[in-house]
Amino acid sequence: MKDAFGPAARRRTRQVLVGNVRVGGDAPVVVQSMTNTDTADVAATTKQVAELWRAGSELVRVTVNTPEAAAAVPRIVDRLALMGVDVPVIGDFHYNGHQLLANEPACARALAKYRINPGNVGFGRKKDLQFSQLIEFAIENGKPVRIGVNWGSLDQALATSLMDENAARAEPWDAGRVLREALIRSALDSAARAVEIGLPAERIVLSAKVSGVQELIAVYRDLARRSDYALHLGLTEAGIGSKGIVASSAALAVLLQEGIGDTIRISLTPEPGTSRTREVVVAQELLQTMGLRAFTPMVTACPGCGRTTSEFFQELAQVVQEHVRAKMPEWRITHPGAENLTLAVMGCVVNGPGESRHANIGISLPGTGEAPSAPVFVDGEKTVTLRGDSIATEFLTIIDAYVERRFGAPAPAHDAG
Ligand code: SF4
Repeated sequence: MKDAFGPAARRRTRQVLVGNVRVGGDAPVVVQSMTNTDTADVAATTKQVAELWRAGSELVRVTVNTPEAAAAVPRIVDRLALMGVDVPVIGDFHYNGHQLLANEPACARALAKYRINPGNVGFGRKKDLQFSQLIEFAIENGKPVRIGVNWGSLDQALATSLMDENAARAEPWDAGRVLREALIRSALDSAARAVEIGLPAERIVLSAKVSGVQELIAVYRDLARRSDYALHLGLTEAGIGSKGIVASSAALAVLLQEGIGDTIRISLTPEPGTSRTREVVVAQELLQTMGLRAFTPMVTACPGCGRTTSEFFQELAQVVQEHVRAKMPEWRITHPGAENLTLAVMGCVVNGPGESRHANIGISLPGTGEAPSAPVFVDGEKTVTLRGDSIATEFLTIIDAYVERRFGAPAPAHDAG
């Protein structure tokens, strides 16, 4: 009998090439993020795009909202290339995108994708014309487009017409369903219009973002059923701190488990003083903990309890996670596969040895009443017992040596002759 454990097979979508990154089709789910700098500030935006890329963002979107921002885009892209930062930069347009792209052809060329929101591409009679202009720029420049509708900027004319349609139904839908339908129709009708203008379907990504978990799941299930476009997932305005992380993870995990979603963003409001890269780390951890992709070795740690003797256990878990995360950009090149390494840092003998044996490398620290020693397990076997003040340093050395041994590049073959 087939084992139903694990995510459903990915729903097959059309594959879109964004710069050199494949989105959809059989490509792995792609992580993306967005800057919060003023795009006109070339130095600050270049720095943040590079930071997001280094953290693991595979696509980075920037706001293009003014002539100054549009003029800055090619300079940002050039600077990134000089720095060796190889990440597609996406332009986010609202209201005036058609003018900005017309006036800054270098911006239109430098961007790897345009994000268009059909809800605010223009109003009244100008809407269709301005939408067509944006699509024509994409066609001329050979760029893909994300048609990204959003709950907060829904096409009001469409919403009103669907409300009228609904009122004429024998059994009218509830308001929530009509609103969801308006979002989906806005995305699908805009995509159909773009194809009609001449944009290939393989250059279209769709998104329909809302800020409620259940609504997002309902909208994307429907969108996935009704089209085969590549889908970008994200809970819009997810919020700050743990609320934003939990809400995004709850919504996206359900969809990803059902095989829906080709690229994701976690739209976190950064806590004051924290880095924008947090949203990238959360996206990676979501995909990795679900078993969909591997980015960096993950540390399994127990929560600690009354048996935990000191904060050393928490500190060690943190030091180990930070160490492997910091090493990963280098290991990705020199030690491919290291991202699959599993680690355990456990607080006492109750679950410590057992959990440590399940990891590639695990350490069981002494709990209350235990002898002050910390057995280390490597691939299920106890190899050494650490003691004293240098446990953390010695444990990190064991990890580095293991990575070197197991994932180091094989020595070049010698010609014996
Ligand atoms: S492994 Fe030990 S210290 Fe950690 S939560 Fe379990 S009982 Fe508590």
